[in-house]
Amino acid sequence: RGKRAFIAGVADDDGYGWAIAKSLASAGAEILVGTWVPALNIFETSLQRGKFDESRVLRDGSLMNISKVYPLDAVYDTPEDVPQDVKSNRRYAGSSKWTVKEVAESVKEDFGSIDILVHSLANGSEQKILIEQGMQVSKPLLEISRHAYLATVSSSSYSFVSLLKHFVPLMNPGGATISLTAGSSQRVLPGYVGGMSSAKAALESDTKVLAFEAGRRHKIRVNAISAGPLRSRAAKATGIIDMLIDYSLANAPLQKEFLAEEVGNAAAFLASPLASAITGTVLYVDNGMNAMGVAV
Ligand code: NAD
Repeated sequence: RGKRAFIAGVADDDGYGWAIAKSLASAGAEILVGTWVPALNIFETSLQRGKFDESRVLRDGSLMNISKVYPLDAVYDTPEDVPQDVKSNRRYAGSSKWTVKEVAESVKEDFGSIDILVHSLANGSEQKILIEQGMQVSKPLLEISRHAYLATVSSSSYSFVSLLKHFVPLMNPGGATISLTAGSSQRVLPGYVGGMSSAKAALESDTKVLAFEAGRRHKIRVNAISAGPLRSRAAKATGIIDMLIDYSLANAPLQKEFLAEEVGNAAAFLASPLASAITGTVLYVDNGMNAMGVAV
């Protein structure tokens, strides 16, 4: 049978999650997605109304099918963790079973098992709920509050640990997990969302430890893709994405437009048996920008 993938962090057709879904679908995988609860309605409506049909076209001309869209908020592990104001928030009240543990249980109930788990989510200033709660998610690190820093690490890094914790038990041995990281974990990108560089550094370090633990216990591989700049919804909210794209185009070893599809294809490789000995790595998919030391 073909492989089954759960991709957390798809809410439109602009981001890496969608591109990864397409590459996996083109390679024959069945696609399940986890969509952030406040974005669920618009995503599902757009899907049903055919708004994404053009971008659903796969290499063979068929349309990508998403078997099921699960509401997900990866900041909460169990229903007991959800604060009352979120529970009663109108954007959450219409959905149920969207904590990480519950989503894993639902996937198990609906499909039994999965082979591929993708974490393609991070908070940015689009996290309106956090902003409503008075948290600042787009300040420089030197100005960020403890609360905002921890919220960023919670939604962008611990969410991966939590997804693995709850999904690895329903993953078939030989399965693969992938998260998305950024060069900002290793080098300074002035203007980058405060706390996100910290979150990506945690994610990259966790990739190694989780590769060891999930490898030994469940024969599951854990890798990260350090992706180049993409004008996704989350990235637009940072306000510096166009500058990063221009900089990369001018200075990277490969001076060509950088496509989300290229990250999708790398993810399909990492998830496939072709990568059966690769785990605990961060693979740079960025036109080679990571190799550069000075602007040219
Ligand atoms: P995106 O907006 O398409 O994806 C982010 C997704 O995370 C959105 O769908 C959003 O709804 C979801 N999300 C936010 N908080 C969530 C939560 N608590 N629970 C569940 N879902 C939640 O943007 P993207 O740029 O494609 O981001 C995907 C991944 O790629 C992120 O990890 C990001 O840091 C990483 N990345 C992006 C770039 C870039 O330039 N865009 C570069 C390197 C790495």
